[in-house]
Amino acid sequence: MMLRLYNTLFKREEEFVPLDPAGRRVTFYSCGPTVYDYAHIGNFRSFLSADVLRRTLELLGFSVKHVMNITDVGHMTDDTSPDATGEDRMQVASRRLLEAKKEGRLPPGAGSDIDPNDPYAIADFYVTAFLEDARTLGLKVAKEVQKHPELMPRPTEYIPQMIAMVKRLIDRGHAYVAADGVVYFDVQSFAEYGRLSGNTPDAIRSGEGGRVDEATQALKKHPADFMLWKRDPHHVMKWPSPWGEGYPGWHLECSVMAQSLLGDQIDLHSGGEDNIFPHHECEIAQTCSATGRPLFARFWFHTRFLIVESEKMSKSKGNFFTVRDLLERGASPAAIRLELIKTHYRSNANFTFQGLTDSQRMIDRWVKLQRWLEASRSKSPAASGSAGPLHETLPAFKQALCADVNVAGAIGALNEAAGRYNLSDSPGRVDIGLELDALNQMNSVLGVLDLQTQGQASTADVDVKLVESKIAERNRARKSKDFKRADQLRDELLAMNIEIKDSAQGTTWSKIVR
Ligand code: AMP
Ligand code: ZN
Repeated sequence: MMLRLYNTLFKREEEFVPLDPAGRRVTFYSCGPTVYDYAHIGNFRSFLSADVLRRTLELLGFSVKHVMNITDVGHMTDDTSPDATGEDRMQVASRRLLEAKKEGRLPPGAGSDIDPNDPYAIADFYVTAFLEDARTLGLKVAKEVQKHPELMPRPTEYIPQMIAMVKRLIDRGHAYVAADGVVYFDVQSFAEYGRLSGNTPDAIRSGEGGRVDEATQALKKHPADFMLWKRDPHHVMKWPSPWGEGYPGWHLECSVMAQSLLGDQIDLHSGGEDNIFPHHECEIAQTCSATGRPLFARFWFHTRFLIVESEKMSKSKGNFFTVRDLLERGASPAAIRLELIKTHYRSNANFTFQGLTDSQRMIDRWVKLQRWLEASRSKSPAASGSAGPLHETLPAFKQALCADVNVAGAIGALNEAAGRYNLSDSPGRVDIGLELDALNQMNSVLGVLDLQTQGQASTADVDVKLVESKIAERNRARKSKDFKRADQLRDELLAMNIEIKDSAQGTTWSKIVR
């Protein structure tokens, strides 16, 4: 079965064929978090869709080396213009911690024992938090890193390699030292600049160029030229270099870590949609100019943004959530994961609490099905039978994933097969071993059944018979126009934390997540 994947570089869906001549090994680099704060669920949408892609490749028989970096220096607050400006995000974290400590706003454990003037300690604190959240949500690379620390590299560990790449770019005529001592990449030296994002040097000169302040503009050969190394002895983190004490550019970091760990050319590179420009455009320019090869990543995979209740997630709107926030509200890790992966990665996903509840219900059904199959197997281990619905559906499940990672289609296939079983009955003459194996294979991509599946929203502890009898009674009351009794029953259900929804198909219920 062939995986077809949308490639941002060529703006079309293509058959995924790895560079490895034997065709089995895949190299994959994902832009990871900047550790100046807790990652939010939007960040996790990007990381999890990379995880689902990686798991899809593994289900198809590829062996994937997946690297996800952790940015701990050089990512500036304004990263939307080619030459990022503002403050280093690690500096922002340091200032925030200092202020919070002064005002006594830090509860114990929330960074209260870190020295706010030590950016390495701040980075360590948020790395630990990130890994904890990432493992809670089943991000495979965050588990692997326990054995293979190199899979989640930090730029501060790759400074000599970065200096080497800058030197090479200068030697090859792709970079220059400006009058202020800053080393810039010369975009006009790389004919392909703009291929990924459409932001060619000409387009930038007439549009975006205006955003670069005039003093900097005058020092650069072109407004789109971007910083590789900045001399700045006052920066929050700094290293000696041939161009003075300073720090590397954010784009340079990813080029160097990808090359050091995966090679000059890689199969896949992922990030959120905002990474396309300038971050990934600049990575391509640097790597290809340094290696002299026509290609850096063969496929560029970008996840669209997560929005919350149809609005952009922002702290001021109060709709900004971390994984911790949702766990505190009673969501289960499995439901959070499913909610963040179930929408196609090239569409915006809209996070809602109703969606989270729906995801939990779906997981509850899968858990019940799995337990029921396991129980039937232990009752009659030797029994044999014919292929059942899950096994029969496996090709459709894979086919959906092969169509540009259509997770919704894959979930639909699983649900359709699960719906063919009546769990209050016995499975009959079905090969249970094959069924469990199929469910396992599907879960190897969805990755929810091996997480904690129970949260406050889980329906496993709900007296389903009681809920259903109240719903049936309410429907009878409504039919006979006894709305008072119907409302009373709705309130009784609400008191049990059960919310009901009426539609043309009937009444459905779910547990409320607050
Ligand atoms: P950062 O920690 O800011 O470097 O971001 C880490 C990753 O999260 C990047 O790949 C971003 O593109 C991605 N990202 C940021 N916000 C969102 C969002 N709302 N939805 C999806 N991905 C996001
Ligand atoms: Zn990156």
